[in-house]
Amino acid sequence: MVWGKTSNIVKNYLQGKLRFTEFAITNACIAKCSFCEIWKQHPKVFVDKAQALTAIDKLADFGVSHLTITGGEPLLHPQVIDFVERATKRNMHNAVLNAAPQLLMRNDILQRLEGAGCDLLSISFDSGDPVTMAESRKIPHIMDEMAKAMDLIARTSLKTMASVLIWNDNYDKLEAVCLRAKNMGFSYVSLNYPTFSKSQVYPLGGEGISLSREKVIHGLTEAIRLKKTGKYGIINSAISMQNIINYLQDPATARYPCYGGEHVLFVDWFFDVRPCMQLPQVVGNILTMEESALRRPACNDCNMSWYRDFSMFFHSSLKTIPLWLETLSGLKILF
Ligand code: SF4
Repeated sequence: MVWGKTSNIVKNYLQGKLRFTEFAITNACIAKCSFCEIWKQHPKVFVDKAQALTAIDKLADFGVSHLTITGGEPLLHPQVIDFVERATKRNMHNAVLNAAPQLLMRNDILQRLEGAGCDLLSISFDSGDPVTMAESRKIPHIMDEMAKAMDLIARTSLKTMASVLIWNDNYDKLEAVCLRAKNMGFSYVSLNYPTFSKSQVYPLGGEGISLSREKVIHGLTEAIRLKKTGKYGIINSAISMQNIINYLQDPATARYPCYGGEHVLFVDWFFDVRPCMQLPQVVGNILTMEESALRRPACNDCNMSWYRDFSMFFHSSLKTIPLWLETLSGLKILF
């Protein structure tokens, strides 16, 4: 199974069609995060099962070799297991996001995710402090629930990643956050760089992430140091984080632009394919579009982590041997 997913990545890379996709399967959510407005949206949309399976098949045909299933809260979708199962069947490495850990303890969901071939559970983790964490997500006792969920996860083969947004509360205490995640049993940590989006579909922003450029740079500089210690399983590439620091200091000095809309994609709950969660453009609808529509000039308009970090996989050349090495190590960490 793991070999099938790895060889699929290599095959698609050699054919020049390797892609990574975030697929948002619902806008329903339990959390009410201060930096996200999706939970306010009405009506609540859940992707149709048959159409979503067709979408996953088409993405696989287009070379998508990693699928992040997101929302809203994807575990609220009654057919989420079917989507993971189909991604696995198509040899797509896959991750499922979770913001409300109480959902991990219901309906044998962990066993079913494990059986469906889920490669990674990515759980929102904004602070090492339980009170701050509960306040930022508006979920009472969220850390207690997460600790209980982590105990159950430890009895499965599922890998876990603490998904840490750099925000006002933690930019200067990232090591404490990483340490808490490690002590709770998380296999990896991923860092999300704060960004505002005026997208109608995926609005992001709010006071919590209104931190100055200098504070974000402070956080990223610390994250690079922590990455280099090798203690916390930080998966973001140091080269990508440095690229974002350069971008924040002067966008013209960001050496590695983003391949949103070509190699990294966002598919929303209407099956519209967008370059990312930032830009309003729709490249096409995954149910009807052709692969040839996935051509866009490289972009340098924001610092959104998932898109910028995955874009680094397409900048490898003989001049960037350190990037190759980090890329290979990044692939290793995900399997
Ligand atoms: S740089 Fe930002 S706005 Fe441009 S494609 Fe990438 S994620 Fe989207």
